[in-house]
Amino acid sequence: MTREPAEPRLLDYLIRAGAIHSMTGQTYRSVGLRGAEIVAVSADLHGLDDLAAGGTAVVDAGDLTLLPAFADSHEHLMEASRNTLLLPVDRARSVAEFTGMVTDAARAAQPGEWILTSIGWHESNLAENRVPTLAELDAAAPDHPVLARRGGHFAVVNSAALAAAGIGADTPDPPGGKIGRLADGSRDGSLEGGAVYQVAAFAPGPGRGQLAGALGSGSAAYAALGVGTIREAMITVDELLAYQDANDRDLLNVRVRPMLRVGSELTEEAAIALIDGLGARSGFGDERLRIWGLKFVLDGGVEGAAMEQPYANDPGNSGHLNWDPAVMTRVCTEAARRGWRIGTHAVGDRAVRTLLEVYEAVVAEVGPLPPWTLVIEHALVSDAALRDRAVRGGFGVTVQYPLLWNMASEMLDTWGPERTQRVTPLNQWVAAGADLAAGTDIVRPFNPMTNVWGMVTRGTKSAGIQGPEHAISAGTALELYTTGTAALNHEQDRLGSVTPGKLADLVAYPLDPLAADPDDLPELTPAFTIVGGRATHDPGKRLAR
Ligand SMILES: [Zn+2]
Repeated sequence: MTREPAEPRLLDYLIRAGAIHSMTGQTYRSVGLRGAEIVAVSADLHGLDDLAAGGTAVVDAGDLTLLPAFADSHEHLMEASRNTLLLPVDRARSVAEFTGMVTDAARAAQPGEWILTSIGWHESNLAENRVPTLAELDAAAPDHPVLARRGGHFAVVNSAALAAAGIGADTPDPPGGKIGRLADGSRDGSLEGGAVYQVAAFAPGPGRGQLAGALGSGSAAYAALGVGTIREAMITVDELLAYQDANDRDLLNVRVRPMLRVGSELTEEAAIALIDGLGARSGFGDERLRIWGLKFVLDGGVEGAAMEQPYANDPGNSGHLNWDPAVMTRVCTEAARRGWRIGTHAVGDRAVRTLLEVYEAVVAEVGPLPPWTLVIEHALVSDAALRDRAVRGGFGVTVQYPLLWNMASEMLDTWGPERTQRVTPLNQWVAAGADLAAGTDIVRPFNPMTNVWGMVTRGTKSAGIQGPEHAISAGTALELYTTGTAALNHEQDRLGSVTPGKLADLVAYPLDPLAADPDDLPELTPAFTIVGGRATHDPGKRLAR
């Protein structure tokens, strides 16, 4: 029997399980929790029994396997929560269903009220495999502005929304953005990059109190899938206040590590003034809610990714950069001097190369920085030279396999099969020795076990297997999703593994994901989730005291 530490303090919970994978190489059979922390582990099922007393809840879970709760390196909990307050067009399966929902919402709305849809929709889920047009949205809601954002970089709108935002026929494209047009020059209703914000700025959102409530139910849906921590990938300062409200009201069912947006529409002076005005720096907060750092967006999504080679379906287009690299270098240098960590969205290989140049210039100015200070978000398309350069520079990478899972068909069309098959080549990143942290970026609760299955099989939602040679093992996938993200969050001493002295963030499954057939993983959901010694998901009342 091994037991550490030997200190005989009584437990709040004693959990005896089929297996407890520490993610540091050990497998235990029992774990003891006291308050918010793990205080004892044993390789023996009954090795901690003498630490149980009248007040200890003993959980006999021989049928379950325990892991550290998942820590998502990059997800938009605020957007996902806000979506629960919005028109759920992600449920539409045709353009007619989509516009029919808009029509119904317009009928129920006050005159002139904005119709705001959820952003989790995608045209690949619509029978026509295209986005609704300006004309269709005008017909659905002639008198109400309609803003249908899709993900973080794209939207479709109607004429009333363009009018409300003051966008006329002659309005030029904003920096880093595009107002979509038909062949005759008239607007087609699509907006990309900065143009999305140009219109969204005029759409009134929910108030802070309403958002805080939505964060409560939104975070519960993630906890129900075994998530314990979310690195919130982009919020505004106002949204940080909504998070603080939610934390004060004890509504957050996951730990949150927000990134604050520094928009490319800002001038250099305005960006530095915004950072100065924040007052705090990375690491400010408590164990539930702690600021991770700043967020920059260097290129677009599948459409708009800055590539070294032109798009497969548009030989004149190789995407766009949102920032002048020299300006971004100066802003990031000032941020790093003030103690800020920086995560930058870079999808295409040209964006990744440009970002490496920016980060290398920052380090040349301010000197060596700790690991996970300057971070590359996504790096969907890379080559061996870029990967080696990221490792040499000490720039960690957050990887989101579900982006390939979700959008492989769109990538095949836009980037072609060769680039799609080598999106997020996890085996190559691991072999290069990169600092990696796994996440989702799906903007709705996404089962981490579907993500693990994808990393292990390279399976996708609707485009089969893509680049099977880039698969990694389930054990490595789980490490990137637990210890990897803990390191990204500079919390490897407090989270990421089942270790005495660390916070008690645990998830339990009716199968052992390390031993199971990968094809049994995608639908696997937890029996319970614990965050900080408290049940955040326990449908079977296995943790009842
Ligand atoms: Zn994102």
